[in-house]
Parts: sequence; C-alpha cells; structure tokens
Amino acid sequence: MSSSVIPYGKQDISQDDIDAVVAVLKSDFLTQGPQVPAFEKAVADYCGAKHALAVNSATSALHIACLALGLGEGDWLWTTPITFVASANCGLYCGAQVDFIDINPRTYNLCADALEQKLIVAQANDCQPKVVVAVHLCGQPCEMEKIHRLSQRYGFRIIEDASHAIGGRYQDKPIGNGRYSDITIFSFHPVKIVTTAEGGMVVTNDKALAEKMELLRSHGITRDPALMTHKPDGGWYYQQVELGFNYRMTELQAALGVSQMQRLDQFVAKRHQLATRYDQLLSELPVITPYQLANGYSGLHLYVVRLKTEQLKRSHREIFDELREAGIGVNLHYIPVHTQPYYKQLGFKQGDYPQAESYYSEAISLPMFPLLSEADQDRVIEVLTKVLQ
Ligand SMILES: *Cc1c(COP(=O)(O)O)cnc(C)c1O
Repeated sequence: MSSSVIPYGKQDISQDDIDAVVAVLKSDFLTQGPQVPAFEKAVADYCGAKHALAVNSATSALHIACLALGLGEGDWLWTTPITFVASANCGLYCGAQVDFIDINPRTYNLCADALEQKLIVAQANDCQPKVVVAVHLCGQPCEMEKIHRLSQRYGFRIIEDASHAIGGRYQDKPIGNGRYSDITIFSFHPVKIVTTAEGGMVVTNDKALAEKMELLRSHGITRDPALMTHKPDGGWYYQQVELGFNYRMTELQAALGVSQMQRLDQFVAKRHQLATRYDQLLSELPVITPYQLANGYSGLHLYVVRLKTEQLKRSHREIFDELREAGIGVNLHYIPVHTQPYYKQLGFKQGDYPQAESYYSEAISLPMFPLLSEADQDRVIEVLTKVLQ
C-alpha cells in the first residue's frame, strides 16, 4: 500500500505520446506546422463536426466563441453557478453581463426548467440572454434538446462547455457534434480526459463562425485576399481585419493531442469501469453516488459524491479535511461562481442559487483517472468508510 497522496485527477502519458512530442522537437515546426491541423481533424472527425480549431486553453476557446457569437456590451451571458469560473468570465471579457441559472439537484447541471422560468421573466423585462453556456458537469451531458428548443423560442445562442465531456455521448451521438448548439469547447488541461498540457478547442458546424474564430485566434490577421477589405500590397502582405489575440496552440501540444486522441475511448471506458466499482463499493455508505442520464454517456471527468450530512456526526468540511490528511487528494468542484468575492462585488449574494449552494455544502470529488489502481481505489473507500463513521 502506498503512503503517497492519491490525486483526484492525473494525466496518462504513454511512450507513444512522448515519442510524438520528441519527433516535433526534431522537426522544422514548433508552431504553425502540420500537427495542429492533424489534431483539429482528429477531434472534428471524432465528434462528427465540420470545423475544429485548436487554441491554447479552453478559457481562450470560450472567449473567442463568445466574440464570434457577437457577445458584447449590453448583452447577457447565462450559465450555471456550479462550474469553473472560466465559463462565466468569458462573458465579462466581452463586456457583457453574466447571470446564472440554478442547478438540477439530481444531475447538478443547469436546470432546463429553471432556465425556462428565468427566460419567461427575462422576456417580460426585455433582457433575454444572447448566449447560454451549458456546462456538462463531470462529463454528464445537459438536457440539450430542451435547451435548444428554448433557444429557438427565446432567440439565444448556445455554447457547450464540454471541458469535462470529450468522449461522452448524448442521444447516442458524440458530444461536440453540434446538433443542439452553435459551438462546443473542450479543455486539454492535464486533469481533463485527454491532455495537451495546456490547450483547448472550439468545434462548430457553422463555417462563418469557424472563420471568425480562426481570425480571433491569431491577431485578427488574414493572408487570404478574399477576407481583406483592401487589395494586398504584395506577396508579403497580411491584413488585420479584427482585433484578435495570440491564442494559438503549439505543435508540441498538438502532437501530444493527436497521440492522446487514439486512446480517448479507452480512457473513458476505464473511467466508467472505475465509476461502476465506486458505485458498488459506496452503496452502503451515507453518500449519494452520481446519477447517470439514461440518454447520455458521461465523459466522467469527475466522480462527485454528495454526503448525506443529516446522517453524519462530522461536518462536510471535517470529512474533507480528514480525507486530505489521510492522503486522499479529494477536491470540490466547484465553489458556486456567484459566491466568489469578484462576483459578489458585481451584486450576487449568498442565497441566490439555493440548489447550487446546497450541492456545495455536500459535494466531494473522489479520485478518478485512468491510471487509478484498484488498490488505490480500495484505499479511498477504506478511508472514506472510516471518516464517515
Ligand atoms: C477546466 C475548465 C475550463 C478551463 O479550461 P482551461 O483549458 O484550463 O482554460 C473551463 N470550463 C470548465 C468547466 C473546466 O472544467
């Protein structure tokens, strides 16, 4: 039995992954070479989407997705409070205002019924959102069909934040296929399902959105005369047609991504195997195990349990601390965004989203990653059983 800390998430890097990155180091291109388009094609093909653009993080992906959808001053972006801050911050980057929809107490994703109620009120006050960011928390898909139906009735655009969900499915189609949204974004941070160290991707079926995001990813500069407002001065000429950024991914990262994509299905299958084992081993303990949608297949980035606190002698915080002290690297995903001091200063307050706050007072993310051994998983259960007594 190891006495080191078992983290909540960790990358799985093979010799093939290492060889792929080393090969790039020995090649002519460290950036803007063939690996980035190869990675984009691998993800687009996997998802069944027409266009994919690699960027340097999912946060950058969210930013250019919002800009491409025309989000700006005077607009609203709505998302869930139970997400990483980036899903909301992207609205603020664009000068828009951010608001939240409370979560569904079973799936922990934004509640489609609460969204509908809020849209009815917003329509009466003429302040409907321009963009809704639907976050597939833990990899579990949101109720996309209903959210899409609402988008058509109330006229908003949809970004799927699938940072947790690559390799997952909804209504038997890969997440990212874009049937119910305008743009889907992925994260390739090392704790996520596939990694490029840092990295992200936008995928869409809309050619105009893809072209716009391609410009925004690289300074708003084009070398394509068809996209220029003025004729080229000569062969050297490029033109800035937008205010863009340098959000490009490197060849090293993309090569790692291409290599990792080959094991995506294997990674997600292993996560499901671990989750099934957790479900069984936790069945007698005073915790609620993750609910799985019948018409979805989760990417299972996270395995979150909720403590049945009313049955416990110790507090959520005490249990969390004791797990950490015993070397179980548990985490909490996430602190409700509206309770962050930065968001409180924008006018949000404790009590605004009761389901999200109740979730926050009970949730714990247990270790979940493909290289988690059964022995380590047993140690997690053993310690958890002890601290829950
Ligand atoms: C990780 C994450 C992000 C940000 O990803 P980066 O690649 O680190 O920028 C955004 N949204 C969610 C839900 C995430 O989990």
